[in-house]
Amino acid sequence: MAINVTRSSMPPFEEYCEEIRELWDSHWLTNMGTKHRQLETELKSYLGCEQAVLFTNGHLALENVIEAFGLKGEIITTPFTFASTTHAIVRSGCRPVFCDIDPDSYTLDPGRLEDLITEKTVAILPVHVYGNLCDVDRIGEIAARHGLPVIYDAAHSFGVFRNGVSSACFGDAAMFSFHATKVFHTIEGGAVCCRSEEMYRRLCDLKNFGIHDEEHVPYVGGNAKMNEFCAAMGLCNLRHLGDEIEKRRRVVERYNRRLEGIPGLKLNRMQKGVQSNYAYYPVVFDGYSCTRDEVFERLSAEGIIPRKYFYPLTNAFDCYAGQEGFDPKQTPVAADLADRVLTLPLYADLPLETVDWICELILR
Ligand SMILES: *Cc1c(COP(=O)(O)O)cnc(C)c1O
Repeated sequence: MAINVTRSSMPPFEEYCEEIRELWDSHWLTNMGTKHRQLETELKSYLGCEQAVLFTNGHLALENVIEAFGLKGEIITTPFTFASTTHAIVRSGCRPVFCDIDPDSYTLDPGRLEDLITEKTVAILPVHVYGNLCDVDRIGEIAARHGLPVIYDAAHSFGVFRNGVSSACFGDAAMFSFHATKVFHTIEGGAVCCRSEEMYRRLCDLKNFGIHDEEHVPYVGGNAKMNEFCAAMGLCNLRHLGDEIEKRRRVVERYNRRLEGIPGLKLNRMQKGVQSNYAYYPVVFDGYSCTRDEVFERLSAEGIIPRKYFYPLTNAFDCYAGQEGFDPKQTPVAADLADRVLTLPLYADLPLETVDWICELILR
């Protein structure tokens, strides 16, 4: 059987059945039922944030939060991310302006941020990558100086805390993805965490066709509500999250033990004061005896499927070819990394012997 880059964790079957039992009594399957409300409450408590709004998926959460902030203009972001981040900006009628990344954290380089701010800039949308946090202090300080909102794509960072503060609490809003491949999932799902009650209400209306109540429809909203079955999966998975992260930590430590100190291999450095969620295990091949693509081919031939996360960069996508501002040469650090990085298989139940085997194949 192939070893994929990730494998969804599942709660015990009986636990999920128990969780959804009352849906057979109530016949209330979606539209902000009890599971939905309970998950919002539990997420707020776990993340320590003021407001949490659940969505069908992370991507729609991102499109809705861009709309909720009323953004029209240029949004500064990074190309070293999943398609969703850039597409959400473009689909919302805004223009992404690409900032290069820091070569150690793989996140937006705040040293290059201020030069990109113009009178057309309306927001900053940085991405926490692999479970590493952006330099939230410097980004926040620059944004405040220019009066710009900061919306984080926090899809990789559920369960990441810095000095006890979760990634939901940085910036004006944070988007999480609860897709099946993420550290915490609701099968498909997502959330926006924000501060104000007003923003909470607007997001709630937007995800339900813009309907506020029976007689008032203040927005041209779409449909992006999380259903009760997904919320129930979230309630189950949240109970096991501590165990999930601890198991991932053990896999990561095993990789580190095997690959540390090998010339030409750059491993992900843990950040000071940051409690990671061990979402991904990136290795950068720089001056190693084989290229990233050679290692990829070699592992694939053995049924091990790593991923070239993130290759290609979003500013190199076919759909944007020839458009102004979409040029990976303008973000050379990200472009170089995209050619060298490989994320190795990492999930809670990945056997440590398999980790050893993967490392042997790389080292051979
Ligand atoms: C997964 C992911 C998304 C999209 O989330 P979905 O829930 O799959 O829609 C957005 N941004 C990043 C960085 C992601 O990894």
